[in-house]
Amino acid sequence: MKFKRFALASWLALGFAMAPSAQSSLDPQINEKIRREEAANSQIMKTLHHLADVYGPRLTGSPNHKAAAEWAVRTMGGWGMQNGHLEPWDFGHSGWLNEHLEVHAVSPFKDALVVEALAWTPGTNGRTRGTAFNLVTPQGPTDAELTAYLASAKDKVHRAAVLVGKPVFVPVNLTPAPVRWSDEQIRCRFDESAAADPACAALNQGRGGARGGGGRGPGPQADGRLTARQVSDKVDAFLVANKAILRVNDAGRPHGQIIAFNNTSDDVKTMVPTVVMRNEDYGRIARILADGTPVELEANIVNTVYPEGKTSYNAVAEIAGGDKKDEVVMAGGHLDSWHSATGATDNAIGCSIMMEAARVLKALGVQPRRTIRIALWSGEEEGLLGSQAYVKEHFGAAEAPKPEFAKFNGYLNIDSGTGRLRGAGVFGPPEAVNMLRGILAPFKDLKVAGVIGTESRATGGTDVTSFNNAGLPGIGFAQDTIEYGSHTHHTNLDTYERVIEEEVRDAAVVVAATLYDLAMRNEPLPRFAADKMPAPPQRGRGDR
Ligand SMILES: [Zn+2]
Repeated sequence: MKFKRFALASWLALGFAMAPSAQSSLDPQINEKIRREEAANSQIMKTLHHLADVYGPRLTGSPNHKAAAEWAVRTMGGWGMQNGHLEPWDFGHSGWLNEHLEVHAVSPFKDALVVEALAWTPGTNGRTRGTAFNLVTPQGPTDAELTAYLASAKDKVHRAAVLVGKPVFVPVNLTPAPVRWSDEQIRCRFDESAAADPACAALNQGRGGARGGGGRGPGPQADGRLTARQVSDKVDAFLVANKAILRVNDAGRPHGQIIAFNNTSDDVKTMVPTVVMRNEDYGRIARILADGTPVELEANIVNTVYPEGKTSYNAVAEIAGGDKKDEVVMAGGHLDSWHSATGATDNAIGCSIMMEAARVLKALGVQPRRTIRIALWSGEEEGLLGSQAYVKEHFGAAEAPKPEFAKFNGYLNIDSGTGRLRGAGVFGPPEAVNMLRGILAPFKDLKVAGVIGTESRATGGTDVTSFNNAGLPGIGFAQDTIEYGSHTHHTNLDTYERVIEEEVRDAAVVVAATLYDLAMRNEPLPRFAADKMPAPPQRGRGDR
């Protein structure tokens, strides 16, 4: 430990250029040049503007997503990058887009209601009006209990606008979560000093599983009771059979935030027109209904299905390598978004950062030894589909590698919003962690704390795990939270305004330097040897 700490300190003192065995090809001034280019000529907010404002939302399979992907390829080509193209993969079903949406109350009060359409649900086929009814199914019912309840509600839902479920009570939050990691938290997570520090052991204790996947699976309950998902599916079939005009779900979040995902069957025929309504409007209607006063709603929703969206696309462009051009360093993020905002922090900005890093290297006239490839995925929000298809097609997996598998030299991913980069996790051995710590060490002033290793090949969270899953070295950046968890992630508030320019410009500098180093140094990024490769997880658990 001591020796390592000495080595890191002297490395910092001597500067980046003296990294062992890297002198021959690394430009000692490169980090300064990258910082200056980004400070003088940044295009990052312009890129974000196009991806979010002009082309958003970018739902997988929608014409918006394809247009955004084409713009990205064209733009990277304009910066002098090569081999720009869209790479098709099979999404398995049509694309969908909400193109018009209005729902309002016509009596006893007149008011516009704040809603978002659920993806892959049908439109209303023109303006339609119906009485509101609050359908509240029994708690955790058996199939028989639910069937009996629905039979009793049959007449109430016919031609009605059906609010499904009791309104959620969202209390005022008197202790909002911090927007940044503290320096101590981030040191304990990413710095090499953390391993031997008992204070960090205590601090890291509470961290496990905070963002873990979670219990939303459709599996059957042990005691014969239906899961929430099974209840919802049965309610949908019931509403279709009894010709309800509208299903309304409660967003259940504060401050008008709405998260609208998708009809999980991906088939518009299995649901009636469905919206997610802000909690405040949903509560108001439910309370007036509880007074015994009828409420009349009107809706006009146009949703269009795009059969051509069955083929979706990853957008790819390269800076061609030199003497090691068959070896590839990749960086990317997902370009697809959910549909109720413009997907600025999730994840137009991750794409913008990666594109900007490549632009900076191009502008500096760098000739990398290895090929640098930017890839902007689609299908991430539906289950990392685009990146998984790409990895399978190009690299295979450790157990069945394709020729490109051995030539792979790392994939950098950003997908946690606008906050500055605080550290990274790499799927690889301690030697990979050490190499990346050296690469990131010159960016302590930008608050980058270090790197940790992971041996997990589980998928979930974001596209970096598609690489880890195959046994390839994925490098995922951790970011300050800012408003991601509290406001923007998947919500109707995820817009251009929520991006902090200074922090994402710094992120582009860090990524450009990392790509440059991985593409230039003599030795490749260390990887797990075949006999040390962690086993892939057992299949069978649904992931998203
Ligand atoms: Zn995302």
